[in-house]
Formats: sequence, C-alpha cells, structure tokens
Amino acid sequence: MSDAPARSHGRKSISAAVGPRELMPAQETLAGVWCAQVITLFPEAFPGVLGLSLTGRGLKEGLWQLRTVDLRRHGEGRHRNVDDTPAGGGAGMVLRADVLGRAIEEARATAPAGRPLIAPSPRGTPFTQARARALAEGPGVTLICGRFEGVDQRALDHYGVEEVSIGDFVLTGGEIAAMALIDATVRLIPRVLGNQASVEEESFSHGLLEHPQYTRPTVWQGREIPEILLSGHHARITEWRQAEAERLTRKRRPDLWRAWREAHRRNPEDDREL
Ligand code: SAH
Repeated sequence: MSDAPARSHGRKSISAAVGPRELMPAQETLAGVWCAQVITLFPEAFPGVLGLSLTGRGLKEGLWQLRTVDLRRHGEGRHRNVDDTPAGGGAGMVLRADVLGRAIEEARATAPAGRPLIAPSPRGTPFTQARARALAEGPGVTLICGRFEGVDQRALDHYGVEEVSIGDFVLTGGEIAAMALIDATVRLIPRVLGNQASVEEESFSHGLLEHPQYTRPTVWQGREIPEILLSGHHARITEWRQAEAERLTRKRRPDLWRAWREAHRRNPEDDREL
C-alpha cells in the first residue's frame, strides 16, 4: 500500500510520459499485430522508453502494439487494495491472488490465443536472446508486473504463469524488467529496426559477444581505429572481427565461450591457437 498511485511529489516526471502515451490509444488490439499486454500498478510508466527511437517509431507505425491493464482498478474495496501481509509473517507486502486473477482475466479477454503469460521475477528462468527470438515469432506476450515482495503463488500456479528473470539482481518492481523483455523482443520484429542485418551480427546471435565498434574521427585523443578496419580488405576485416568476438567472449563470458566451443566441436580447454 506504500506504492499508491503517484502523489504530488511524483507528478512532474509522470507528465513527461503524456505525449508518448498517445502511442497506445484504444485498448482494442489489432488482429495479427504483435502485442505486449502489461498488467501493472503503474500504467503511466508505459510506453516510457519504448515510445522513443526505433521501438517508438514501430509502435506509431503499427508494427507492434502495447496495452496496459491497470491492476489498481481490480483492487478490493473502496481503497482498491491490491496487497496484503505475507502468510507466515515476514517483511513487506504481497500482491493478492484474487486481485491478480481479475486483472489476468481482463487481459485474457482481449488477448489472442497462444500468447504466453510471463511474470518477471528474480526467481525465474533467465531471459535470453533465444527467448526474445521465440517471443517475437509468436502473437505477443502478457506480462504481470510484481511489486513489493512479489505475487501470491496461487495466481501463478492457477494460470500457468512462467517466471522469467532479467538478471541476478533485485528490482523494485516488474515494470523495468517488462520493458527490457519487450524491447529485446520488439526489435526482432521485421521492419522495427529497419536494418535486419545488424540483428544478425550482434552479440549472442551466433553465441559470441560482438566485436568492438569504431567510427569517425579516425584519431581521437591520440587513439587510432585499428588499421585493418580502414584497409577496405573485407575478408581480413571479417577475420579480425571474428577473432575479436572470440577473444572478448573467452575473456568476459567463460560460460558462453564453453558453449560456443562445444557447439563448434572444439575442445573448450584447448585454446592454444588464440
Ligand atoms: N521478494 C522477491 C523480490 C521481489 S522484487 C524475491 O526475493 O524473489 C519485486 C518485483 O520486481 C518482482 O515481483 C518482479 O516483478 C520484479 N523483479 C525484481 N527483480 C527482477 C529480476 N531480476 N528480473 C525480473 N523481474 C524482477
């Protein structure tokens, strides 16, 4: 209950979102257009950064759509209470199963069949580029944003909700995680980025981190762009980029390195040639 809708001290920052919210006008969904539906206590947080740049342009052009379900409207009683103290005691508050249930029903009434129900949670399976790709190929996603200590387990069990984590750290609420998941997914929808080749080459696409990037000026603070990149020799540039991708992955992400080496039938212990 400490998270009631914005009071006076919070208003300024929220008014900044008024313009972009016009990007998500009616609540009806467009058939056949990838749709993210977000159940949240803070619908005013959307589209937020998703309304900017390439994702924002895609939203405006109807390449994808965003809908929010206001959890508060499903609250209990005159005060629209959405949470209560944890059964068994302990700190904090838990989002009620009955309140969440009503919000999930509202979301389901407008969602096309086959749209997965996901609750961002630090306990969830790690979100990956492969998962973003799979979501982008489907009809959309419904996201349930937790707050406080989290949500009543029965709501997750009853609706078969999958918990997904965006990393081994704890956020205050699910909204930022939902935005991260939507952003990573929406940019894979054809025409959102404009240049699909950049998606194919970037980090994780082939199981490696991306090589370093450079642009003009050719010399900055006495630092030069690696000579090979200015040589115009495409085959050697490709080779250099591959070697850099391997070097960075090996140094920074031994887990990815091992998986990549195994997938390429090379012994991960045998790094002599690098
Ligand atoms: N008590 C919980 C944390 C609750 S944090 C626990 O220890 O597991 C409040 C909400 O923030 C969660 O319900 C979830 O929606 C969101 N959240 C926090 N960290 C997250 C993460 N790493 N990935 C995805 N969602 C997260």
